[in-house]
Amino acid sequence: MDVSESFPEIRDAVRKLCAQFPGEYWRALDRDRIYPTEFVQALTQAGFLSVLIPEAYGGSGLGLAAATAVLEEIHRSGCNGGACHAQMYTMGTILRHGSEAQKEAYLPKIATGELRMQAFGVTEPTAGTDTTRISTFARRESDHYVVSGQKLWISRAEHSDLMVLLCRTTAREDAAKPSDGMSVLIVDLREAVGNGLTIRPVRTMLNHATTELFFDELKVPVANLIGQEGKGFRYILDGMNAERILIASECIGDGKFFIDRASGYAKEREVFGRPIGQNQGVQFPIARAHVQLTAASLMVDKASAMFDGDIPCGTEANMAKMLASEASWFAADMAVQTHGGFGFAEDYDIERKFRETRLYQVAPISTNLILSHVATHVLGMPKSF
Ligand SMILES: Cc1cc2nc3c(=O)[nH]c(=O)nc-3n(C[C@H](O)[C@H](O)[C@H](O)COP(=O)(O)OP(=O)(O)OC[C@H]3O[C@@H](n4cnc5c(N)ncnc54)[C@H](O)[C@@H]3O)c2cc1C
Repeated sequence: MDVSESFPEIRDAVRKLCAQFPGEYWRALDRDRIYPTEFVQALTQAGFLSVLIPEAYGGSGLGLAAATAVLEEIHRSGCNGGACHAQMYTMGTILRHGSEAQKEAYLPKIATGELRMQAFGVTEPTAGTDTTRISTFARRESDHYVVSGQKLWISRAEHSDLMVLLCRTTAREDAAKPSDGMSVLIVDLREAVGNGLTIRPVRTMLNHATTELFFDELKVPVANLIGQEGKGFRYILDGMNAERILIASECIGDGKFFIDRASGYAKEREVFGRPIGQNQGVQFPIARAHVQLTAASLMVDKASAMFDGDIPCGTEANMAKMLASEASWFAADMAVQTHGGFGFAEDYDIERKFRETRLYQVAPISTNLILSHVATHVLGMPKSF
């Protein structure tokens, strides 16, 4: 059995690309919350964002496991894939559920970078995690839909040409079951902004280009409906598994970044006449972070292998995301502690990555909701909601 790291050539190439975007680059952007346009362009040109697009549409036709290697290395290098990871999983909604005409219209242009598909519009301020309660509504009028409503925390909308939007086409109370009556539309943001769509940036504790969207009678052609009207929730769930696994791989990358930095610092920093890493009180948390991260990484590998094998992997995707986000957060906290005061200094990049990796216990799905899924769907305990 080969237990070496998967996709060594891809990893090496990603590392080389990331070396051109060192800590100073990210710190400057972070300070003013600026989108890493040059970084995203470099990844696009190198073909790393189109690994999942089939060769027939201009991509490299690889599986999710290859995509996890790309994102892990980005994060391990101290960079952040949050600016562009969505393209990998939103594209899958078109690939798996779109018509041939839609695939031909969008996928080759996404692969070359001519079209950016970085925005995924699901969350709403009042519905929260309970997606079946979304109320953004698309009313059909002849050959177009008219969309009204509000979305919150929609990242990268200002840096994307297209958005995959989940909205209701039948009110929840009129649908056969709560998850029916939702549909997926491709919104062309270049045409929509100023014509029924307003985007308002939301400043957060990390540089994530997230926004609030206001829809006021926005017209979207019926030709932009993905799959069947009313079946959108199912299409989105497919994409969510990919999203969770990809984000889990980013957490693995973050964790490796923290462990590399902390173990390196612990070997060099001398206090009381010896390296701090000679003290077991300093060594053990670093070793524990490594153990936890290695275990989480195995779960990410399992979930992505199942996804690539077309085996239902909702539970494994959730477990991978939970374990990886907790392991990266433990490693982040450990790295701050190991660096002492320098853990708080911007120039060390630890505090920036600490803020960045914290997100993933909340988004794209919070830990409690994962535990609830495992408790009820896997272990058969009574549902709490
Ligand atoms: C920076 C950022 C970027 C994001 N980007 C996007 C994006 O691009 N597109 C998008 O659609 N969304 C995005 N999100 C939204 C994200 O997916 C949600 O924030 C997340 O799913 C949690 O939903 P919520 O914030 O509404 O929390 P809520 O649903 O309000 O939950 C709040 C807390 O209560 C807990 N909770 C709620 N119900 C229960 C229960 N029944 N049992 C136990 N605990 C419960 C939750 O676990 C959570 O800790 C982003 C969020 C952030 C912060």
